[in-house]
Amino acid sequence: GATIGILGGGQLGRMLSVAASRLGFRTHVFEPSTNPPASHVADQITCATYEDADALRAFAGTVDVITYEFENIPTSALDLLEDLKPIRPGREALRVSQDRLTEKTFLQDLGLQTAPFADVPDAAGLEQALQDISAPSILKTRRFGYDGKGQARIMQESDAPAALSDMEGAPAILEGFVSFSHEVSVIAARGLSGEVSCFDPGENVHRDGILHTTTVPARLNQSQRMDAVLLASKILNALEYVGVMGVELFVTPQGLIVNEIAPRVHNSGHWTQNGCTVDQFEQHIRAIVGWPLGNGQRHADVIMENLIGDDMDRVPALVKQADCAVHLYGKSEAKPGRKMGHVNRIQPSKRPNR
Ligand code: ATP
Ligand code: MG
Ligand code: MG
Repeated sequence: GATIGILGGGQLGRMLSVAASRLGFRTHVFEPSTNPPASHVADQITCATYEDADALRAFAGTVDVITYEFENIPTSALDLLEDLKPIRPGREALRVSQDRLTEKTFLQDLGLQTAPFADVPDAAGLEQALQDISAPSILKTRRFGYDGKGQARIMQESDAPAALSDMEGAPAILEGFVSFSHEVSVIAARGLSGEVSCFDPGENVHRDGILHTTTVPARLNQSQRMDAVLLASKILNALEYVGVMGVELFVTPQGLIVNEIAPRVHNSGHWTQNGCTVDQFEQHIRAIVGWPLGNGQRHADVIMENLIGDDMDRVPALVKQADCAVHLYGKSEAKPGRKMGHVNRIQPSKRPNR
């Protein structure tokens, strides 16, 4: 059997590894930190930095295909690896999604709606940007932001200096505040031969900037549901994407607005583990090894809730509940804001959507 190389050994790398094992593949995880969640399930783990060219070469030598659980892999490491083994999803998806300015420009060029945005290279740039995009708006670092980190809201112009200092000198973009009724995401997959399959859109609620729950079915009418799936397919096709992608959307009366894309399995797709025959992790593995995509049709209503920090105290009670499937990441220390696991609460579907 083939060996799948996974860059990143967090919970997403761990669940990808489990899915790969279940299909008979071996996994080799590359991760700079010691004892990451994936280390307990992967067949092999290399603990080295992305600057360690020898370690990267050795890693590539043991695998047949390389994938990743996060989008911020240094370019130098990608340059080295791509000469040795196929990287799926490919470089274009990483290039586009590593930088919010590139990402939003790409989406706009595809004819999709985004929040109004402007480049903020420096302090003077913010003044100009605020003239184009007035408050309320959100200043975001172009790179490395996640879980709402690296963002500052500008409710009125007097908030600008504080917002700018929050960026700590990093290049940023200013986004107009979208007044959405709710947030949804589409977990979409594209196979090696170009077929696309989307999971049913999920409705996302954030708490303190971190995903709190994903509920399926989402509140969407038939035409919004169709739009969501079509726009996700458009993005994957444009990138000649191979693998699973998370597409985050704002629902507004003017249509669906794309917030951001993540070129990997996505937290808002964890419900698929108990709501579909083939979940997002298996779908991703199938895609990158060139298998046909599996049946991702939803057979249950699901509420996925993240277990963050102290939520771990609820696990003994949750595992007694018949409708709960508990997933834990094997992290030793429960720190505030740290994703420790999630629970999928399932109900047989009352209204199949397709
Ligand atoms: P993630 O953990 O999903 O990667 P992130 O740190 O990359 O998050 P975003 O997804 O850009 O950040 O923003 C986090 C949340 O902030 C969004 O889900 C949404 O609730 C809110 N938000 C972001 N941008 C806007 C906007 N332009 N208008 C209104 N709300 C926004
Ligand atoms: Mg993000
Ligand atoms: Mg987001």
